[in-house]
Amino acid sequence: MPPGMGGPMGRSSFMTEEEKKAAPKVTKALIKRVLSYLNPYRVQLILVLICIILSASLSTMPSILTGKIIDEGLIKQNLKSLIFYILLSFGLTLIASLIGVAQSYINTWIAQHITYDMRNQMFRHLQKMSQRFFTSNNQGDIITRMTSDIDGVERIITNTFSSILSNSITLIVALVAMYQRNWILATIGIVIVPLFAIPTRKAGQTRWSLTRQAQTKNDEINGILNETLSVSGQLLVKLFGKEKYEYKKYRSANRKMIKLNIKQSMAGRWFFVVISTFTNIGPMLIYLVGGILIMQYDSSLSVGDISVMVALLTRMYGPVNSLLNVQVEWMQSMALFTRIFDYLDMKPEIEECENPVSIPNGKGNIVFENVYFHYDEERPILKDISFELKPGKSIAIVGPSGSGKSTVINLIPRLYDVISGSVKYDGTDVRELSLTDLRNQIGVVSQETYLFNGTIRENLRYAKEDATEEEMIEACKKANIHEFISSQETGLDTVVGNRGLKLSGGEKQRISIARILLKNPTVFIFDEATSALDSISESKIQEAIDPIIQTKTSILIAHRLSTILKADEILVIKDGQIVERGNHKELVKAGGVYQELYETQFEKPEI
Ligand code: ATP
Repeated sequence: MPPGMGGPMGRSSFMTEEEKKAAPKVTKALIKRVLSYLNPYRVQLILVLICIILSASLSTMPSILTGKIIDEGLIKQNLKSLIFYILLSFGLTLIASLIGVAQSYINTWIAQHITYDMRNQMFRHLQKMSQRFFTSNNQGDIITRMTSDIDGVERIITNTFSSILSNSITLIVALVAMYQRNWILATIGIVIVPLFAIPTRKAGQTRWSLTRQAQTKNDEINGILNETLSVSGQLLVKLFGKEKYEYKKYRSANRKMIKLNIKQSMAGRWFFVVISTFTNIGPMLIYLVGGILIMQYDSSLSVGDISVMVALLTRMYGPVNSLLNVQVEWMQSMALFTRIFDYLDMKPEIEECENPVSIPNGKGNIVFENVYFHYDEERPILKDISFELKPGKSIAIVGPSGSGKSTVINLIPRLYDVISGSVKYDGTDVRELSLTDLRNQIGVVSQETYLFNGTIRENLRYAKEDATEEEMIEACKKANIHEFISSQETGLDTVVGNRGLKLSGGEKQRISIARILLKNPTVFIFDEATSALDSISESKIQEAIDPIIQTKTSILIAHRLSTILKADEILVIKDGQIVERGNHKELVKAGGVYQELYETQFEKPEI
């Protein structure tokens, strides 16, 4: 469990070695940054502060009034006073509770607004992060920062901050009231209260450790569920006949989990036994010392005073215990903020330059000039790639698997930036162009077609929000998917399912072609899927792509001979280098890599 994601209970004031190591450096800058989130809500915070002071002070009053009830009402047998103090005590408790309600409302309001701001800020920031960030970071981790970590911040604001404040105030009021009555008993109280806290800490520590073990087990169980019950995971389990194996794994983790839960529950039992014993010792000591003082030394001390002392002492127990845990809570809170700030501070790899060149209506001229690129420094991927795609023309990129074909096209819409050399669009380096303009002019149909879980219509409108029914139908016709859509009972309103998995690979491809046609970019890029589609699906996709290749500026990574033949120029890439270029005839004649690919790999049309 990451630091800061405290379990619901039993936080110990001891920090484990692991926690100490993970403890963030609490600097002035960090605190300033945390406070900057509270800044917009200053007025509300002052209101909360006033509510906390009032409610904490008022709720201590009934304990103090116990003395009056006993001395003025019971011992003097004065019914009027008795009723008055009882009603006063009751009234004060009621007012304190009502203020408490207002306080928790404002508190929750502030916490929700701060987390709202943070979530939006984080979402905006993550949207700017590059492809590399998403491919190299664990998906679960990204989601955790967005959800659990930010929820943790909410918990800190609603619980930690206000509990520190209200506990300190309760403690101060109780201490002042005790010292006003009798310094000897007050001092005994101060000595005793920490003694109460020691067993609590011990039990809390055990509980905390069990909570964390249970949490880790829980994460493991979630992992198993995630892997085996996801659409693709369950399929893999079924196809490999691993149901028994997965069930055993799940059952074993589940069993360990229940054992931990039982242990944790029992640790709680012992905890209460210890607490109730110790909480009883405290009042007894006060009665004893107080009694001795009344009987033998200090006649000014009344029975009521002793009762007040006992009542206040009992009230002090909770706040002292909470405050003893402040260090851990504080560190955990800071760790949580640090984790969030770490993400917010990551610089987006691909950013727009300061004065980007705007190209609302580009021509679609693409030039690669001596481009070198690598994902990891030790492994060069593209070496000295140069070519030009003229407007209205098409280029097919072919080459063995892993040779760097997709990488070449990733550089055009700036999913990555070149290491050296340049990629130019209409004569300007893509790094100097407005990112939105550049990406608006480029339409990519990638190998992995992604459709959102929604209707076909929603997926199409993703490319053009205000697309009319006619436009959508026309795009679907061109993409060769209209017939399929019309045959569906709900037409364009057919739901595509999780990641579009209710559709076949070919149908998904064709919907994504319709989507790109609606976007109507200047340059079309097709990264042809290598996965085998049946020949009918293939020819339908082919029919959809062919007119685009012939009329629009396009680059295609092709595996099918029929597609390759439509292109104006063929680039052959091997080990990240362009090893051959020309048209089909020339390349076959040359008898090099292309010829080899032609013989062995290209899927030729069926005769
Ligand atoms: P295919 O025809 O199989 O799709 P390709 O020619 O398109 O292959 P690329 O996807 O460009 O090949 O990959 C080129 C090389 O770069 C491969 O060896 C691959 O392992 C590596 N690679 C691709 N993406 C990444 C990434 N995000 N991080 C690190 N290495 C990567």
